[in-house]
Amino acid sequence: MSVVGIDLGNLQTIIAVARNRGIDVICNEVSNRFTPSLVSFGPKQRYLGETAKTQEISNFKNTISSLKRIIGRTFADKEIQEIEKQYLTAPIVDLNGQLAVKINYQGQETTFTQVFAMYLTKMKEITAAETKLPVSDCVIAIPAWYTDAQRRAVLDSAEIAGLNVLRLINDSTATALGYGITKTDLPEDKSRNVCFVDVGHSTYTVSIVSFIKGQLTVLSRAFDRHFGGRDFDRMLVDHFAAQFKTKYGIDVKSNGKAIIRLMSGCEKLKKVLSANAEAPLNIESIMEDRDVSSMMKRVEFEELAKDLLSRVEAPLQQALDEAGLTKDQIDAVELVGGSTRIPAVKERFQTFFGKELSSTLNLDEAVARGAALQCAILSPAFKVREFMVKDITNYPIKITWQPTPEEDETELVVFNKNNTIPSTKILTFYRSGPFDLEAYYADPEHIPAGINPWVGRFSIKNVEPVDGEPACVKVKAKINIHGVLTVESAHVVEVVVNEEPIEENANAEADTENPDTPKTRKVKKLVKKNDLPVVSATSSLDQSILKEWREKELEMIASDKLVVDTEMAKNTLEEYIYDTRSKLNGVYQDYINPADKEKFIQDLNDAENWLYDEGDETTKSVYNSKLAELQIVGDPIIHRYREAEARPTAASELRETI
Ligand code: ATP
Ligand code: MG
Repeated sequence: MSVVGIDLGNLQTIIAVARNRGIDVICNEVSNRFTPSLVSFGPKQRYLGETAKTQEISNFKNTISSLKRIIGRTFADKEIQEIEKQYLTAPIVDLNGQLAVKINYQGQETTFTQVFAMYLTKMKEITAAETKLPVSDCVIAIPAWYTDAQRRAVLDSAEIAGLNVLRLINDSTATALGYGITKTDLPEDKSRNVCFVDVGHSTYTVSIVSFIKGQLTVLSRAFDRHFGGRDFDRMLVDHFAAQFKTKYGIDVKSNGKAIIRLMSGCEKLKKVLSANAEAPLNIESIMEDRDVSSMMKRVEFEELAKDLLSRVEAPLQQALDEAGLTKDQIDAVELVGGSTRIPAVKERFQTFFGKELSSTLNLDEAVARGAALQCAILSPAFKVREFMVKDITNYPIKITWQPTPEEDETELVVFNKNNTIPSTKILTFYRSGPFDLEAYYADPEHIPAGINPWVGRFSIKNVEPVDGEPACVKVKAKINIHGVLTVESAHVVEVVVNEEPIEENANAEADTENPDTPKTRKVKKLVKKNDLPVVSATSSLDQSILKEWREKELEMIASDKLVVDTEMAKNTLEEYIYDTRSKLNGVYQDYINPADKEKFIQDLNDAENWLYDEGDETTKSVYNSKLAELQIVGDPIIHRYREAEARPTAASELRETI
C-alpha cells in the first residue's frame, strides 16, 4: 500500500510518497514533478492534469482551475463572485445552492459540482502508476484557513475518488513537520521558534512553530488569503492590456483566449524578472492576427506591485502578536512557495525580521513531503520515528441550545481560537427529552467572507427523565484530526448512592462501646448509564449521495479509459498497416509469394482508406477485429521473416520452399 502525501496547490499539485529510503516526490505521466491543477471536459472524455493544460487555451470554456478555491463554497458566496470568478474561465452556476461548473461534456451541456473529486482520481492514478502499488491511504494538505465546510467537502471528494484520508493536514503544519523530522539538532528543552512563510499562487500563510526534540507545537498562524503569484500576474495583465489598447488598438480583455495567453506570458515575465533586471513579453497572434511585444524592468514591476507588496507585513506581525513573541525570539525564518522567489517579497521578509532568511526546505515540495511524512507516521504500513504534531484551530466554535426554564445560558464557546487539535470537550446538560445542539463559528467576520458560519446540528435522541427528574446528559464534542467538528457520542450519567463500609480506624475500639455507630456510609457516584444516539446534520454529503457520486466517478473513469484504449487500438492498427506495407516491399518480400503480396497490399490499402473514412470513429473492438483480420495474413509472414533472421543459414532454404 502506498503512503501518500498530496499538496493540491492552486496552480500545481505535488505528490510525495514515503519509501524505505525516504520521501520521494513522484513524476506524472509526462515525467513532471508538478501536475497542473486543472480539470477539463471534451467531446469524448475528461482531461485531468497535464492533458487539461495542453488544451487550456483552445478549450478554456470547459477548463476548470482554482479547484481549491471553489470547493466547499456556494455560488452566491461573495468571494466567489468578486474574486474567484476573475480567474475562472468556465462558467459557474447555482445548483440547489451549490456551486457547479457548466461545461460541455460528451457533446452535452452538463453541470458538475464534484470537480475536485475528479482531480483527486487523477492524483490517485498517477501515484498508482508510479508506485505500482494500490493507493488508498493518504494525507491531503489544505490551507489552514479552510472552514469546517471546506474540510468536509475535501473529505467527501476523497471518498468519491476512493481515497482514505488519514489526515487533512494544514499545509503550513505539513511544512513544519518536514522541517522538524529532518532536523537532528532540535533542543531537548528550550524550544526553537521557527517562522514559516508560504507565498503560493493564490494564498499567503505565516505560521510560527516551536520545536523541541520529537515534537512541534504550532503557536500561531496568520494569513492573507488573497495574496499570491496570481495577484502579481493579474496586475501585469491589467498593465499590458491597457498598454496594448493604445499601442495596438486591441482589447485583450474582450477575448477569453487572449486573456489566458497574456496571463501565461505575464507569469513567465514575472519569473524572468526574479532573476533579471528586465524581461521581454512577446505573444504571437494574440488576437485579430496581431503579434504583441513589450518589456518590463524589475524596478517598474516593483513600483507597480507597491500596493500588493505592502500587504506582506500584516500577517507577520499578527502571527508574532498571537504567539506572544518578538522578532528577536524567532530563531529562523523559512521560506516556502513559488512566490517567495520574487526578490521584492523576499526583501520584505528580510527587512521585517532584520535577519537572514533560511531556505533549508525545498520551496516547492516542502508541503507534499511533510504530508507524506504525516501519512507514514499514521499508516500502519510504515515505521517512522515518532514526532508529535500539536496543531491549532483557526476559528472559535460555539455551541448553542434551547435553554430550559432553569437555564440562563444559551451558548458557549467550546473551542477557542488556537485550541489544540485534535481536542475533545465534554458538555453537560440536564434534559427531560431529546434536544438539539447547533454549532457555529463564533466570530463570523473572521472566517472567509461568504461562508455560512453554521457548522452543524447535532440531535441528541432518546433522552428521558430519570426518576421524574431531568437526566444528566454528557455530550462529547470533538475537533478531530482533520480539524472538523464532530459530536460523536452522548450518554446519560446517573447519581448512584452506594452504601460503602466504613473502614475500621483508630477509633474502632471506642465505637464498639456504641452499638448504633453505623458500619457503612452513603457515597454518591456518577455512573455512566446508557449511550444516546446522536444524529448529525453537517455540510458533509449524505452517504447515499456519496455512493451515487462514487459510482458516477467510476463510470467516468471507465469511459475515459475506453476512449484512451480506443485511441490506442486505432493507432496500433494504423501503425500495423504502415509498417507491414512498407516492409512487404522490403524485408518481408522474400517471405510471401508475389500474388499474395499484391492481394495483401490491396487489403492494407483498403484498411487504410477505411480508417480515414467510416473507420475514423468507431469502437475499440472494431479496430481490434480489423487488426486481427490483417494479422491472419500478415503474422505468418512476419513469423517466417523473424525465424529466418534468427537462423540466417536456414533462410535461403526457406526461400526455396515458398
Ligand atoms: P497555493 O499554495 O496558493 O495553493 P501553489 O501551491 O500551486 O498555490 P506554488 O507552487 O507554491 O503555488 O507557487 C506557484 C506560484 O509561484 C505561481 O504564481 C508562480 O508564478 C510563482 N513562481 C514560481 N517561480 C517563480 C519565480 N521564479 N519568480 C516569481 N514567481 C514564481
Ligand atoms: Mg502551495
